[in-house]
Amino acid sequence: MKASNAQIMVQSTRLLVNKMLEEDMHYPLHIGVTEAGEGEDGRIKSAVGTGALLADGIGDTVRISLTEDPEREIPVAKKIVDYFSGRGNHNPIKAIHDYQLNPFQYKKRITNSVNNAGGKHPPLVISDLSKAEFSIESLVMAGWFYKSSVKNWIFSDIAADYLYLGDINYKFDIPGEKGIILEYGRWKEFRGNKNKCFPLLSLADYFKEQGISDKMNFIKIYYNELNDSVIKKLTGDSTIVLVLETSNINGFAEQRAFFYELIRAKCNIPVIIKRNYNENNKEDFQLKSAADTGGLFLDGLGDGIWLTNTGNVELRDIYKTAFGILQASRARISRTEYISCPSCGRTNFNIQEVASKIRSRTSHLTGLKIAVMGCIVNGPGEMADADYGYVGVGKNKVSLYKARLAVKKNIQEEEAVDELISIIKENGDWREPPEI
Ligand code: SF4
Repeated sequence: MKASNAQIMVQSTRLLVNKMLEEDMHYPLHIGVTEAGEGEDGRIKSAVGTGALLADGIGDTVRISLTEDPEREIPVAKKIVDYFSGRGNHNPIKAIHDYQLNPFQYKKRITNSVNNAGGKHPPLVISDLSKAEFSIESLVMAGWFYKSSVKNWIFSDIAADYLYLGDINYKFDIPGEKGIILEYGRWKEFRGNKNKCFPLLSLADYFKEQGISDKMNFIKIYYNELNDSVIKKLTGDSTIVLVLETSNINGFAEQRAFFYELIRAKCNIPVIIKRNYNENNKEDFQLKSAADTGGLFLDGLGDGIWLTNTGNVELRDIYKTAFGILQASRARISRTEYISCPSCGRTNFNIQEVASKIRSRTSHLTGLKIAVMGCIVNGPGEMADADYGYVGVGKNKVSLYKARLAVKKNIQEEEAVDELISIIKENGDWREPPEI
């Protein structure tokens, strides 16, 4: 089963397994997100798709399809596979009997709108800067650029929606739709604008305390803290956003079970999926967090994502990974999506070089899907739902596509990237990159 869209790849493979079980067929399955692309995007997309299936015990061989030298695929595949081995001894998770999600079709869980969380809002990204050297300039680590020369904020499409600052005593105005989360004790003492600053409470504190925000309250919760009386109390409070933690080694299944309990109880409180890591290697952090959380977003669960890491990974890579996971699961589109093949003997040009050239010129075109494919034999068929395509057709020759239609055929490779940009412009999909 091949698809470059992780959502389609997961749903179709589940459907295949379902049909095989009905027929008492038990063939091993080869899984992978095809044409996943290059670099971080390719890795995150692959981990989201394969992780969602491996977490359910589906998949016997794995292919990671990167637009890179082929030997770079195997270590990534091994890391993902190894991450799922040894989960058999996890803490028990209650079995679900009244399964209420359709595993073959995407449907976003219905949730209340609390400020800018839940409801029709895209999933939020929360960046944890509570342990950082704090200054207004340091917020660039969450995508918040402060231009002191003009005393103004600049945000790209990937700027964290909320900053968690723990106990930090911050003193600046919060721009636009953005917000701050403080530990409850600190928040109580805070004398600034409480329309933009909200508390994070434990469930125990929430049950004890009176003075909470009348607009938005983040409550930390674990699966084993959920019971009927907790659901009843939370359901009656329209200010609550849950921050779902887990320490189960099968955290994906435990967090999914938590959502099932809420759906079963018709509780529509928005839920932020939080995962904590201790990684010193950026790729390990990206693969693990994508494999753990991507499958939940693919199934329409989760109103936000909050990743933390106690190891040595740059803070800016953490929030960018969160956006990458939302993009790969198509829960929130915040950048251009690239579909590019791994290349093979049929490729007559340097696909890595071209893919990176196209990326450098188009990465600000949020929402567009651009394919870079090595050959005319399989390229057009496998670039699936791309908006634009660059397809090699022979030595130094390229055809350019608008969706499924070849709009420029057999043009010289040297002109092809400029021509691609012209076609994007002619079709009204171009905008100039933001000045940052
Ligand atoms: S060059 Fe063609 S056949 Fe080879 S990987 Fe790319 S699309 Fe597939």
